Amino acid sequence: MHFVADVMLSRLARWLRLLGVSVSPAESPEDDLLLKQCLKEKATLLTRDEKLAQRARDYVPCLLFRSNSLEQQMMEFCQATGFPLSGIRLSDVPSLSRCPLCNHALRPAPKSSVKNAVRPRSFARHRLFWRCVHCKQVYWKGSHEKKIRYALQKMKLRVKSASF
Ligand SMILES: [Zn+2]
Repeated sequence: MHFVADVMLSRLARWLRLLGVSVSPAESPEDDLLLKQCLKEKATLLTRDEKLAQRARDYVPCLLFRSNSLEQQMMEFCQATGFPLSGIRLSDVPSLSRCPLCNHALRPAPKSSVKNAVRPRSFARHRLFWRCVHCKQVYWKGSHEKKIRYALQKMKLRVKSASF
């Protein structure tokens, strides 16, 4: 399944990409152009805008989100799509990830090839790196890992408790 997220859901979209879900960034904040993008990409629209969701339903599949909080939104996404969040382990990230910025694939990058793309401290500390095939951004399991682990755990707990 492929999605396009409106700008109000850009944080959720980054998270979903990190977890391997294909979510294109909105090419425009304008409703018409956003709907066109969904048609072109055969994508399901993710939006927080009720009016837009009503309009979209005549043209494209659409998921309307009610919550402002990231964890709640993740829960809404899992409930609507059956996405198996609880099966995802931190060790799968970022190998299964898509680029959080542009949604393209990440590929393992030899350490020697990223020397100029990361800070010397990160370069010295880490062994495994990934590079986005499109925007060339380099990623590694580094300083964000704690934050990701914590957030992932929190989301899993929310999703789990909601399913009872
Ligand atoms: Zn990218």
